[in-house]
Amino acid sequence: MKGVFKGLGYTLKELTKKPVTYDYPNEPLALPDRFRGIQKFYPEKCIVCNQCAAICPTDCIKLTGKKHPDPSKKGKIIDTYTINFEICILCDLCTEVCPTEAIIMTNNFELAEYSRDELYKDLSYLDENDESIREVNKP
Ligand code: SF4
Ligand code: SF4
Repeated sequence: MKGVFKGLGYTLKELTKKPVTYDYPNEPLALPDRFRGIQKFYPEKCIVCNQCAAICPTDCIKLTGKKHPDPSKKGKIIDTYTINFEICILCDLCTEVCPTEAIIMTNNFELAEYSRDELYKDLSYLDENDESIREVNKP
């Protein structure tokens, strides 16, 4: 009997303590400042220089450009932009090398899908991925 009360006392004591678990996904997780999550892409900033695709160690970025619709302007604009998150290792190199900050990391890490095909994230997905965008502090 003494053991029952001892156990109950221990349980009651633990009940008053702050929980060490999160009510995820209802409660967002606190992430470090330089967390590397799914990229946000700004199509209007992209100059189609291909540096992000060239530096990518897993070759998971595919992009195409097209002629600027305004004939008075030189250069290309982005047409298609896809990242394959089956093989992206979220290393941050593509964002570091981008000269216009057209691609940056976010705090969004939720990539669970039922189909591998859905891990190919296209331009519109990456453009709309506005979740907790990392501040870019460049001089
Ligand atoms: S984070 Fe790394 S692996 Fe992923 S697309 Fe960028 S460069 Fe490639
Ligand atoms: S490095 Fe930046 S500007 Fe160049 S193609 Fe990639 S996203 Fe576009």
